[in-house]
Amino acid sequence: MLRSVLVSLAATAATVTGLALDPRATTPYDSTWHPSTYTVAQVQSLLSQKLTCCTALSVVFGSKVSYPNSTTYDASLASYWSIQEEEVTPTCVFTPSTKEDVSLAVFVLNVGAKVFPGKCNFAIRSGGHTPFAGAANIEEGITVDLKNLNTVIVSADRTTVNIGPANRWQNVYSQLDAQGLSTSGGRVATVGAGGLITGGGISFFSPRYGFVCDNVLSFEVVLASGQIVSANATSNPDLWRALRGGSNNFGIVTNFKMRAFAQGEFWGGYIGLTVDSLQTQLQAFEDFTGSPNYDPYASLIYSLVLDPASGTWSVACSIEYTKSNPAVVNPPYFQNFTSLPQTFSTLRVSSLTDKTVELAYSNPIGFRQLFATGTYGNSAKQMRAIYQAGNSTVQSIRNVPGLQWSLSYQPEPTIITSKAATNGGNSLGLDISDGNLVNVLLTATWNNTADDARVNAAAKALFSQAGASAKKLGVTNPYLYLNYAAPWQDPISGYGAANVAALKAASAKYDPSGVFQKQVPGGFKLK
Ligand SMILES: Cc1cc2nc3c(=O)[nH]c(=O)nc-3n(C[C@H](O)[C@H](O)[C@H](O)COP(=O)(O)OP(=O)(O)OC[C@H]3O[C@@H](n4cnc5c(N)ncnc54)[C@H](O)[C@@H]3O)c2cc1C
Repeated sequence: MLRSVLVSLAATAATVTGLALDPRATTPYDSTWHPSTYTVAQVQSLLSQKLTCCTALSVVFGSKVSYPNSTTYDASLASYWSIQEEEVTPTCVFTPSTKEDVSLAVFVLNVGAKVFPGKCNFAIRSGGHTPFAGAANIEEGITVDLKNLNTVIVSADRTTVNIGPANRWQNVYSQLDAQGLSTSGGRVATVGAGGLITGGGISFFSPRYGFVCDNVLSFEVVLASGQIVSANATSNPDLWRALRGGSNNFGIVTNFKMRAFAQGEFWGGYIGLTVDSLQTQLQAFEDFTGSPNYDPYASLIYSLVLDPASGTWSVACSIEYTKSNPAVVNPPYFQNFTSLPQTFSTLRVSSLTDKTVELAYSNPIGFRQLFATGTYGNSAKQMRAIYQAGNSTVQSIRNVPGLQWSLSYQPEPTIITSKAATNGGNSLGLDISDGNLVNVLLTATWNNTADDARVNAAAKALFSQAGASAKKLGVTNPYLYLNYAAPWQDPISGYGAANVAALKAASAKYDPSGVFQKQVPGGFKLK
């Protein structure tokens, strides 16, 4: 039926100037025909009926395209993590059900951009957990909400698992837990797979298996042409590597084939500490991160949390020890933290799903949010300097309504950064020569738009001071974790010149007309 609509529209096609569309003029990665059903002429004629890209998609996909004030559209917006992303209002939301839907839509949008220059921009959205506006949503454009691409399929031999990009990690883990399996992924139940994996990904399992992206055996990707390809060690290996950290710059990932491994319940949870013993804790962190015998089962997120009303700080440590079958309770590797007086503890043996649900409680949706990040050599002195910078820069905004302000330190030791080399490589630009590193994440939450500029200014000041102290202490590192970066940071250039050049080469090869650079403006672009 839809096909006949297109064919009849093609019969009455008006000439569209500026288009040089020969259906057979193809290159391997820039075909001007869609491999399933539609020719360029058909799509071109559809668009030339003075339709917009949204209405053209509606003709092809019917109710999979939704508009403001409809249940699907409103539910899509309401499910972004931050208010800033929720406030962005696309002209329509396209909700594909299959990779073929994604493929045809990209084809239509690609042709559409030539008919209506600047009017067919789109955004790619999986779990919608990027804090800043426009990363996975778009004003006056089309948001491709992949929410129905959320299957989890374990291979018969139980060594791999296929994950649809819009899975929230809770859905992945609950299915794998039930089978005594797991995979590398996010640590908070509600976060999406698509953004986390293509941006790198830090997992409880990272000391065992590296960054999450290092565990992707194959990506299934829709390219700018609409072509669906695999990217893995033997097929399009340059694209495989590019997608390991290169975010949304190459195509829309419709499936991740991930390494799976046996995993049972393990010990971990939160402990609360006071800042009275801050110096001891930061030294414990440095020793933990820098140990030549880093325990690969040990994962730590050390967070300093401000109470803006009183101006006092407290500490919450997420400590997880992923050894299972049997689980190990209170392992010695955490002793320098667990032996300190605790204000609370949720330490227990439980499933991975349970652990990620616990972390989700402290990260609810529906607030104004800011992430900003830095990476530094492992140094208690630097961590103290960042804490001091965090404390001084927040003073001018302590009266911001609803303010929450916390600093999280996460070990990024060589046991993590060395894994890429044996797993096919990634684009992040980190390796053993960087030494043991610390990833720093500032999380700020507040209520009102009116305070956006002030909060951002304080965050910038914090990282400027952190950079200055890192320089003094000789612990600078250019890497910025893309998934924690603020929109005013430039994580991709921190991957280093060689990686940036490889990413640009992959973009030129797989997306020669730059659809994912220009027509998908959100997120972090290659420059
Ligand atoms: C509460 C919370 C907890 C977090 N915990 C962790 C953690 O434990 N470990 C960690 O490493 N990070 C963590 N993060 C950071 C997280 O990795 C990023 O926010 C990530 O972008 C989330 O992915 P998403 O699919 O939900 O995001 P989205 O906002 O949907 O997407 C993020 C970016 O990726 C692009 N993208 C999404 N899907 C695709 C796709 N299929 N193909 C191509 N491009 C795509 C989007 O266009 C967008 O630019 C956390 C974030 C939050 C808010």
